[in-house]
Amino acid sequence: MDPYGYGEAQLQIQRTVRDFARREVASGAEERDRLSQFDYGLYRKLGALGVPGMLFPGEFGGSGADHLSFCLAIEELSRADVALALTMWVGTQGAQTLSRLHDERREAWRERFVLPTVRGEMVGAGAITEPDAGSDTAAIRTTAVLDGDEWVLNGAKIFISNAGLENCGFVTPLCRTDEGFGLFLVPKGTQGFRMGPPLRKMGLRSSDTRELWFDDCRIPATHLLGGRGSGRAAIVGGGFALTRIYIASNGVGAAAECLDLALAHARSRSAFKRTISRFQHVQAMLVETAVELEAGRMLRDKACRMHEADLPYAKEAAMAKLYCTEMAKRAADHGVQVFGGLGFMDETPVSRFYRDVRALTIAEGTSEIQKHIIAREMGCFSPV
Ligand SMILES: Cc1cc2nc3c(=O)[nH]c(=O)nc-3n(C[C@H](O)[C@H](O)[C@H](O)COP(=O)(O)OP(=O)(O)OC[C@H]3O[C@@H](n4cnc5c(N)ncnc54)[C@H](O)[C@@H]3O)c2cc1C
Repeated sequence: MDPYGYGEAQLQIQRTVRDFARREVASGAEERDRLSQFDYGLYRKLGALGVPGMLFPGEFGGSGADHLSFCLAIEELSRADVALALTMWVGTQGAQTLSRLHDERREAWRERFVLPTVRGEMVGAGAITEPDAGSDTAAIRTTAVLDGDEWVLNGAKIFISNAGLENCGFVTPLCRTDEGFGLFLVPKGTQGFRMGPPLRKMGLRSSDTRELWFDDCRIPATHLLGGRGSGRAAIVGGGFALTRIYIASNGVGAAAECLDLALAHARSRSAFKRTISRFQHVQAMLVETAVELEAGRMLRDKACRMHEADLPYAKEAAMAKLYCTEMAKRAADHGVQVFGGLGFMDETPVSRFYRDVRALTIAEGTSEIQKHIIAREMGCFSPV
C-alpha cells in the first residue's frame, strides 16, 4: 500500500516525471538561472512527455489525468527547477479555459491555442495584477469597452508570468466592463498590446515576468471568455483555489529537494571530528523540515482530493497554499544553514531554491490573503 494513498497511475506519473526531471531538467537549472534564460527545447521535451497536456481530455491530445497527478508532476519538476514547473502550470491555465468552451469558438481555438499548448509548443499568460491593484483585485482599472463587434482594452498589468516568452501565444487579462469584470483573450501580436522588457528578479530567473500595456487594443467581441461581469468571480472564487494547490506543489517539491540536499550534506560533512548530522542542532533543522514536509504534502493532497470529489475546498486550498509555501521558505532557509558558507554560494542548489521559493508566498495570493480567506471560511466575518 502506498502510504499517501496514491493509486498506481499516480505513482507511475510521479516516477516518470521524476526520472525526466533528474535526467533532463536538473543539470541545466543552475545555468538557466544564471543566464535568466528559458529553454524552449526542454519545454518541448516536457510537452512530448505529456506533462502540459495532463489535465486536457483526449480530444485535445491530453491524457485526462486527475489534479493530484498533475500536482505530483509539478512537485517532481520543482525538485529540479521551480521556475520551469511554474512556467508550465501557469502556461496551461488559459488553454484550460478555452478547452471548456462549448460553442463555435471551440474548434478554431482548439487548433490555434489548445493543441499547441498540450504539445508544449505554446504557453499562455494570465494577467490580473496591476501597478495599483494586486491583492485587491476589485481595484483593477484596465477597461474593456464594447464598440460594435469589438472590445477595446485600455490599461496596464504588471508582474505577468510567461507573456514575454517567444512561445507565448496569448494572454488572458481581467478587465473592468460595464457589468463588472470580464476575462478576455488577447492573441500575441494584437495591435495595441505591448510589453516591457523582462523584469529583473531575486529568483525564478529563468521564468519570464513583465509589465503589459493595452492601448486601444481591439479584439473581436467573441474574445470575451464567459460573462462580461463574471470574470472576477470565476478567477477569485474558483480558478485561484486550484492554482493555489498547484503553487503549494511547487513548495512541496522545493522543500523535498532542500531536505534531501541538506541531509546528504550533513551526513558527509565533518566538523569537530564527526559528521555534522550527529549534532542535535543540525538534526533539529532536518527533522523540522521532514515533519513539516509531511504535513504540507498531506494538506495539499487533501485539498486536491476535495476538489476532485466536488466538495467545497476554498479553505483547504488556502491552507495548503499558506502552509506549503511558508514551509518551503523555512526548508530552504534550513538548507542554506546546513550547508554553511557553501549554502550562500550560487554554485549550491539550495541557494537557488532559497531565492526561488521567496516568490511562492506572494504569487497567487499572499500568505496574509490566505489567512484572510481561511478566517472568512471559518466564519470569522459572520456573527453567530
Ligand atoms: C514571480 C511572480 C509571478 C507573478 N505572476 C503573476 C501572473 O502571472 N499574473 C498576475 O496577474 N500576477 C502575477 N503576480 C503578481 C502577484 O499575484 C501579486 O504580486 C500578489 O497578488 C500581491 O499583490 P501586490 O504585489 O500588489 O501586493 P499588495 O497587494 O500591494 O500587498 C502588499 C502587502 O500588503 C498585504 N496585504 C494586502 N492586502 C491585505 C489584506 N487585506 N490583509 C492583510 N494584508 C494585506 C500583502 O499580504 C502584502 O504583504 C506574480 C508575482 C510574482 C512575485
